[in-house]
Amino acid sequence: MDHFKKAIIDNNISDLKSIYKVDIHNHAITSCTKEYLINHGIQLSNDKIDDIQSLINFSRSNLKSLQLEEKGLRLLLEGNFENCIETGVKIVGTSIDYKVCIRTFNYDVDRFIEFLKSFKYKNLEIFWDLSISRDSYLEEYKKIIIKLLKTKFFYGIDLVSTENIIPNLKFKDFYDLANSLNMVTKVHTGEQLGADYIYDCIMDFNPKQIQHGIHIIEDEKVMQLAKDRGIVFNVCPTSNIVLGYAKNIKEHPIKKMVEYGLKVTIATDDLLFFGSDINEEYLKLYKEGTLTVEQLDKIRLFGLSLFDN
Ligand SMILES: [Zn+2]
Repeated sequence: MDHFKKAIIDNNISDLKSIYKVDIHNHAITSCTKEYLINHGIQLSNDKIDDIQSLINFSRSNLKSLQLEEKGLRLLLEGNFENCIETGVKIVGTSIDYKVCIRTFNYDVDRFIEFLKSFKYKNLEIFWDLSISRDSYLEEYKKIIIKLLKTKFFYGIDLVSTENIIPNLKFKDFYDLANSLNMVTKVHTGEQLGADYIYDCIMDFNPKQIQHGIHIIEDEKVMQLAKDRGIVFNVCPTSNIVLGYAKNIKEHPIKKMVEYGLKVTIATDDLLFFGSDINEEYLKLYKEGTLTVEQLDKIRLFGLSLFDN
């Protein structure tokens, strides 16, 4: 039997760690483990994360000051990439907010990009996405975002945080530019809001990939639209459950998405908050009977195939 399938069926984590996979819904500064930070002398509060507000509070009290300096930022990113290598992630698509360029690098685009380029590993390919948080966006940031996109350093763009808190129209220019530069346009949608908002995001941004998108199963017309356009959904089951957007693993929408024939990858979102690495995500979906081992292997190979050429 195929190496991956056997490792899943046998619940063999050490074998799973040696099998290549991708993680392309990964937020760069919140994807190391808690243990990693504690081992590096960082004190973390014990606040439980069980909804979006507690997640924001945890970030504010534990991470905000750490990422203001290059040293702290480097620690967070190294922890992310070391975990990727340890868990068999061969390709990581990771997003970093443009605000990091402002806060940590004082608007110095060249220095910001040189810093990102300094992360190089033999066993891991890193594809950087520039993320834009809807919550903290102001018109005055438009210039720096355009400047960052025009460097062509970034592989993709991603719109994150509270869905529809600001009208999509505010971000449309960024997507038009990113699509014209042939970047991988991603958008967080259908995690918090329903299929109607996913539809709006597809029409407004013409994205190549959707982060989460789990509420799409509520509307078959939107599912068909996404299928026709070949949109890839990067789904993070544990994140959805911890934050209360999905009930449990067994009934997670990924099952219906896969059965409908949508293109799906499995990803971790924020390992620091949700504590479930890429191998654990695959194993949970198998153990709960959400997806078969064949479906899981197809998803894994599909993810890798996105980077063939
Ligand atoms: Zn996310």
